[in-house]
This record gives sequence, C-alpha cells and structure tokens, in this order.
Amino acid sequence: MKKYSISLLLLITAMFTGKKLTCQENISTYTFQSGNFAITTLSEGQQQNGTSILIDATPEIIKKYIPAGKYPSACNAFLVKTPDKTILIDAGFGRVLFDNLKQKDVTADKVDVILLTHMHGDHIGGLLIDEKVTFPNAELYIAQPEHDYWMNIDSRGGEQARKVIAAYKDKLHLFAPTDLENDNTELLSGIRAVAAYGHTPGHTAYLLKSDNEQFLVWGDLTHAMAIQMPHPEIAVTYDVSPSEAVIARKKILEYAEKNKIPVAGMHIAYPAMGIIKKANEGYKFIDISDIVAYKE
Ligand SMILES: [Zn+2]
Repeated sequence: MKKYSISLLLLITAMFTGKKLTCQENISTYTFQSGNFAITTLSEGQQQNGTSILIDATPEIIKKYIPAGKYPSACNAFLVKTPDKTILIDAGFGRVLFDNLKQKDVTADKVDVILLTHMHGDHIGGLLIDEKVTFPNAELYIAQPEHDYWMNIDSRGGEQARKVIAAYKDKLHLFAPTDLENDNTELLSGIRAVAAYGHTPGHTAYLLKSDNEQFLVWGDLTHAMAIQMPHPEIAVTYDVSPSEAVIARKKILEYAEKNKIPVAGMHIAYPAMGIIKKANEGYKFIDISDIVAYKE
C-alpha cells in the first residue's frame, strides 16, 4: 500500500460518515531525504474542496478531471533539517504543528530559521499563539515585496501579518527573491529563494540543493492539483494577481519537469511531495513514493 493510504482512508471514512473534513484533521508527517537535507511534510490536515474557487474552468475540464465536483486539498508546512540548521518553511495554522514537530524530535526552541512563502493566515498561524512568539530562537525570513504588501493592506489578514512582523522584529530578515533561471544567489547555504509572484505580490518558492540533489518547496503555486496540473492556466480566487500566478506556475512547472526536481506544496494532499511529468494535457503529478522508479 502506498504511504498516503492513511489520508485516503480518512477521506473515505469522512465521506461515509458525512463528516466534512477540514484542515483540523491530523494526517501526520512524511520525510524525504534529498542529499544531506531531510525534508518533512508537517500536515495540518486535509479536506475536499469544491470548484467555486477555480477561475475560468470550463464545464468540460471539470467533468474530465474532477467528475465528482470535489478534489483533495491540504494544508502543510515543511521541516528541513540540514547538517547544521533546523528550518521551517511556513508555519501552518499552528493547530497540530507542534505535535508534528515533536514527532521529529524538534521542540519550538530548536528551530533556527523560518522561511515564509507568503503571509496568508494558513502559513503564519503557527508563529504566534495567543499573540506570543512561538519560536523564540528562530530568524524569520520574508521577501521584501511580501512584507511591503502586508504592511499596507487594510484587512484582518493584514493585521495578523503585521503582528507577526512586529513580534519577530529583532529576528526579521527581508530579502529580494531571485529569478529561477537567471540568478543562482543563495539566501542561506544550499537554499535559494525564488520569485513566484502572483498568489501574493511576494510569493516565494525555496529551491534546496544538497549533494547535487535538488528539491523545490513551491508554497501556494497550486491549490487544486487535479485541475492545475493538466491546466496550469486556471487560477484560483485566492490569488491576488491570477494572471501573474499563472505565469509563475507555468514557468516553475516547466523548470521542475525539465530538471527532474521533486516538488512539495502547501496545498498538495499528503504526502504533499512528488515529481512533475508531461502529460497529454499540461502535466501530471507523480506521488513521491514512485520517485525511485522514476529515477531509474
Ligand atoms: Zn495557502
């Protein structure tokens, strides 16, 4: 059985009991070794999403790829253990994050670095609990355009982002993300911060490289894998700039496919890691458990 069978069982159970799955369901962790980096999915849960968030998905496309009208989605953060650092990429809602970290023998005070893909609530929720800093020793990295966007936005989300920025101000690092193809500058040893703007104005993917192995954590590049793999041109209503999000998605998918780089995403169903292959229409996503076969 595949390693994601637990999540499928959970989904099936939920369907039969009529219980609506939310991101509060704990799915647990999954670890993949990439060179000397151990990358762990920290699941904040799974759910079935509807089609209402999809922009310009025709009835034909929906009928072909999600005939039941629902598709699996998830909420994840990722832990990256390098030989000298314990790194978190995003912090989920903070619901089961700390339990999952504990499973990997990581207490909050052991986290050295937090890299944010962007500042939506399902990515920064774990940074403050009851308005208190949860990771007392972590350096917090946010892309400059992401920081600037949230500093000037008048909404509840803006307030949450500004509280995080204020609480971590002594450990805050603002940086300029680089172009995927034309700039190899590293943010930290073995880690590039790559511009993937569109979902938010500073949305950033992280390209990890260790011992000649690469791995891409792409944040919210997709929200509906079932549709956005075959049709990367379909954006979602969550995107601040749907047209830019489409450009970023196409560019990154092409790069990951061409260079055979395994990817992970914050809204991909457990284990939330896999590889990208070309398909008759667009791309398809192959679960990480098949990756060895793919390499041969
Ligand atoms: Zn998100």
